[in-house]
Amino acid sequence: MNRTTDVEFTTRLRAVPTQGAAGRTVLIAGGAGFLGSHLCRQHIDLGARVLCVDNLSTGRMANIALLLDHPSFRFLRHDIVTPFDPGEPVHFIFNMASPASPPKYQIDPIATFETNVIGSENLLKLAERTGARILQASTSEVYGEPEVTPQAEGYRGNVQTMGPRACYDEGKRAAETLFYEFHARRGVDIRVARIFNTYGPNMDPDDGRVVSNFIVQALSGEDLTIYGDGSQTRSFCYVDDLVAGLMTLMYHDEGDIDRPVNLGNPGEFTVRELAEMVLKVTGSRSGLVSRDLPADDPTQRRPDIDRARKLLGWVPKVPLREGLALTAPYFAAELKRNAHVGS
Ligand code: NAD
Ligand code: UDP
Repeated sequence: MNRTTDVEFTTRLRAVPTQGAAGRTVLIAGGAGFLGSHLCRQHIDLGARVLCVDNLSTGRMANIALLLDHPSFRFLRHDIVTPFDPGEPVHFIFNMASPASPPKYQIDPIATFETNVIGSENLLKLAERTGARILQASTSEVYGEPEVTPQAEGYRGNVQTMGPRACYDEGKRAAETLFYEFHARRGVDIRVARIFNTYGPNMDPDDGRVVSNFIVQALSGEDLTIYGDGSQTRSFCYVDDLVAGLMTLMYHDEGDIDRPVNLGNPGEFTVRELAEMVLKVTGSRSGLVSRDLPADDPTQRRPDIDRARKLLGWVPKVPLREGLALTAPYFAAELKRNAHVGS
């Protein structure tokens, strides 16, 4: 397999043109989750008013605890599958609401599909009513089990309509279609980010995705659970890079900006390589243990980010090893906090 693990980033990150956000109201659906909570904090720091809408199905109040008393921050506990009135003008909407971890989105596949399809439609109608620009957190899962590598936006994907991942993959594909049609027929101002595996602080230690599992296991002295033989690959993006990409996409106005844009780190690693790196970074003496490979687990994943580079001037800056070193202390603190709460 032809893979690239150490990517040379030659383009410098352009300053994120977020002046569009200051003084405006930004609705962040899924704002108490991992990515959404970073967007909430960034927008408060930029001087925006933030309305965080979340049903707390996978999100946590702890992620937004420091924002709750801020005069420009409002939290609304609500499920986006039911339409709602935000009660104030809204200028920008980030649709981050959806479970993202396979074990979480498979708990209630119908709810996952409805969140992505009906929930997205509700937010698109809200955008239409208010004239807000709306960004969809789509996913690399729209490429399914890819037959090409790296995956560029023009690749149509290879996705199952049935099986354990279909509720998420097909829900995200249907949501994209809704976005393009609301744009074409009703003039809604859209952005669509196809996000590849992202990790970092504010992930739930019980999230179930590979980076959180491995770091928590390494820090707890438990064996790291490798699903299958660990030869499947993923490309892991550090959260600060991803959030910079989302902000740049939302507040950028030029080019064919209403078409999908891949956001991810093109460094590609096998799951086994990731496990070994986590052990090194954490200094853990844990071992590796094999577990069954889940059905339909994609064998490879690597973004082609040419479009993001050319359109937005965006490239990720944090290599995997550095991002893991930035993330491990967060999980160590979470484990300590949970042990304290449990004692
Ligand atoms: P997360 O599970 O931490 O956050 C999702 C948030 O959405 C949670 O706070 C959850 O409570 C909320 N939510 C779920 N269903 C809802 C509903 N019906 N109504 C209101 N709120 C609801 O996941 P994340 O990693 O932060 O992902 C955020 C978004 O980005 C998701 O849409 C996900 O599909 C997308 N994405 C993430 C990644 C990644 O690697 N993190 C990759 C691709 C796409
Ligand atoms: N994985 C693993 N051990 C774990 C969790 C996940 O080996 O404890 C594997 C999983 O089978 C997949 C990859 O790591 O091949 C990424 O899984 P994740 O759930 O993070 O996201 P996915 O990209 O599959 O949606």
